[in-house]
Amino acid sequence: MLREVSAGRGSLLTEQIPSLEAAGRILAEEITADRDYPPFPRSARDGFAVRAADLPGELTVIGEVRAGEIFHGLVGPGGAVEIMTGAPLPDGADVVVMIEHTERAGKLVRISRSFKPGENFGAQGSEVRQGSNVLSAGRRLGFAEIALLATVGHECATVYKRPRVAIVPTGDEIVETGQQPQPFHIRNSNAWSMAVQVARAGGDPQILSIARDNYESTRGLIEQGLEHDMLLLSGGVSAGKYDIVERVLADVGAQFFFDRVLIQPGQPLVFGTARGTFFFGLPGNPASTMVTFEVFARAAVELLSGAQEAPLPLLQARLSKEVRHKTGLTRFLPAQVSADGSSVIPEPWQGSGDVMALARANAFLVTEPDRESWAAGDMIRVLLK
Ligand code: AMP
Ligand code: MG
Repeated sequence: MLREVSAGRGSLLTEQIPSLEAAGRILAEEITADRDYPPFPRSARDGFAVRAADLPGELTVIGEVRAGEIFHGLVGPGGAVEIMTGAPLPDGADVVVMIEHTERAGKLVRISRSFKPGENFGAQGSEVRQGSNVLSAGRRLGFAEIALLATVGHECATVYKRPRVAIVPTGDEIVETGQQPQPFHIRNSNAWSMAVQVARAGGDPQILSIARDNYESTRGLIEQGLEHDMLLLSGGVSAGKYDIVERVLADVGAQFFFDRVLIQPGQPLVFGTARGTFFFGLPGNPASTMVTFEVFARAAVELLSGAQEAPLPLLQARLSKEVRHKTGLTRFLPAQVSADGSSVIPEPWQGSGDVMALARANAFLVTEPDRESWAAGDMIRVLLK
């Protein structure tokens, strides 16, 4: 089904924005080098520009070239030019000898060993040739990519527009964070976790009102949500008497790709499309909402943001404590990965409503459905938070 999501990529909209504001965005154009890089043979060291054929030997210093200057002479046989890092190699020279390997005496410089031509400078065009591709559409822009845009003179970049993702929490017991809760109320944490997850995946989160567990309220908000590029609901997708999200979705013409997944937390996850908009009905328990977003919805947001692929950040770590579980489901258990990423320990938790444990954890252990136990010392899969 993710292929279905990515099939929509052809219709993704683009916009031009200042490159400096493009961190995390997905590039929507090909970027080519406007000139050779380096644009001139560039010294990588402070030292002397000389002819390799003259080495070892005692050479005459005929001048100096600093970064930001050019030397208007020629290094002939027996000549040397004092050169600084970043300065252009003078004509005639074919090697830079580091200052540490030289002995200066007035107008003379002594170099007591030989060096190969080409050492200690970058030949013009050795990094990239003018006109060749340096970045392709579909690349997420980070600090190095943005530095590259600066290097090739792109003050602005064309990127994919961020998909507007509607967030609709559901539940009669849910109240906004700023409200005074009654003893039987629960504050709306899912809207915030989803908003942060959406933004992190490259989407533009739009938090709508809380849908109440009745048909009219839920239908109104689902219809409003479907006017966005994607709709995320939390809660109301289990088997309870007032879990009406799926019924309302069916009534607005939804096509369901699946309405159950064999994972825990998060079994009753719903994914489909209605009125041309992809939707996810995420189960309402905070851990279920967070895990199902990371495992399923995140990839959809990333693909709708223009990313070419959206792999899960999985790694392997060594368990420092035994883990057992009932087979049948893939479980995502809150866990602590050590600072060096080598070992992992499960975080004590009270089940999928335990927001405190999720905040303490920095990762999830991923237990396979067909294996019952892992001993301390076993390698296990870990999903980073
Ligand atoms: P549901 O999936 O609607 O059955 O909800 C499962 C559990 O998650 C219930 O205990 C809800 O109170 C809780 N829950 C549902 N929505 C939210 C939300 N937006 N913020 C925090 N907890 C929620
Ligand atoms: Mg509910």
